[in-house]
Amino acid sequence: MNLQVDWKAPIRTDVELKSCTTFKIGGPSRYFAEPRTCEDLFMALSFHREEGCPRYILGRGSNVLFSDAGFPGLVLSLRRLESSRIFFEKEGLVRASAGMSLIQLNLACQEKGLSGVEFLCHIPGTVGGALVMNAGFGRPDGKYQEMKDVVESVELLYPNGAVEVLGREDVRFEYRNTNLPQDVLVLEVRFRLTPRRRDAIQGEIKANFRYRNSVQDLRYPSAGSTFKNPVGYSMTGGELLDRVQMKNMRVGGAMVSDRHANFILNVDHARADDVLELMSIGQKRVFEQFGIRLEPEVRYVSSHDS
Ligand SMILES: Cc1cc2nc3c(=O)[nH]c(=O)nc-3n(C[C@H](O)[C@H](O)[C@H](O)COP(=O)(O)OP(=O)(O)OC[C@H]3O[C@@H](n4cnc5c(N)ncnc54)[C@H](O)[C@@H]3O)c2cc1C
Repeated sequence: MNLQVDWKAPIRTDVELKSCTTFKIGGPSRYFAEPRTCEDLFMALSFHREEGCPRYILGRGSNVLFSDAGFPGLVLSLRRLESSRIFFEKEGLVRASAGMSLIQLNLACQEKGLSGVEFLCHIPGTVGGALVMNAGFGRPDGKYQEMKDVVESVELLYPNGAVEVLGREDVRFEYRNTNLPQDVLVLEVRFRLTPRRRDAIQGEIKANFRYRNSVQDLRYPSAGSTFKNPVGYSMTGGELLDRVQMKNMRVGGAMVSDRHANFILNVDHARADDVLELMSIGQKRVFEQFGIRLEPEVRYVSSHDS
């Protein structure tokens, strides 16, 4: 069904959320909008205000697990929002739309000979999602970087319609998190990059991909690392889960990777409940053996969330 009578921005109903996440899991969203322009976005937001239902902002859905029962309000997917809008300003400053994919950001910066975002290249998210998650990556033979290292400022849209630009010093970046309120929408991110030869940038991207391919399990749909690495411990989340024999464990259609114990894979029409059960078993075992509480990196959106 398409509610296009009064609203120019198409608001669809009963959209299967499994089609909008890398996990390929999730029931229907009561309402769903995927605006391409700011005008469409504002219309979708007016619809939401009128309807007064819960709202969830989505990028490329690469860090989200939706409930099997779906979502009772509006899911606002920003992966197509002005997704090719990028401006190159002076002195290495680059402004990119929140809806731009990280790979597209990389291709555009590489073309201009600007370096700094290579670590983001194969993270399957958007600029906005990477900002909110403070996405990061590093190779053992290179440096570890997070969004906080390359962001100069961020443009936000508040629920009351106000737009504000915050400098990086006004945002608290944490490990796989920021302190931005949940109802704030990231519209644009400004990066500070440095000039570098294009072949060197390309070499860095290739080396990152080779390493990523050797440690992550990219054979099946997933949401990347399920848990954050515990802070202050020498072992990573994956190593702890490996030590408690989680590799290969299967519940329904979800299975812990045999290559990386922190990756849960959707091997056969997995349900969110299958993934949640595997997560709970892993957390329980790690706590019992090591006294460490693993904190989820994947964001679970239940059918009661607002
Ligand atoms: C195979 C694989 C490998 C991965 N590797 C890495 C890795 O190396 N490093 C890493 O850090 N992560 C990794 N991830 C996780 C994920 O890709 C990142 O967290 C990514 O930054 C999420 O971006 P997204 O656009 O998909 O956000 P989503 O998953 O759609 O959303 C994540 C959060 O951000 C919010 N959000 C998204 N866009 C906006 C916006 N414009 N305004 C306000 N809120 C917003 C959502 O509400 C949600 O809370 C990996 C995932 C997969 C599937």
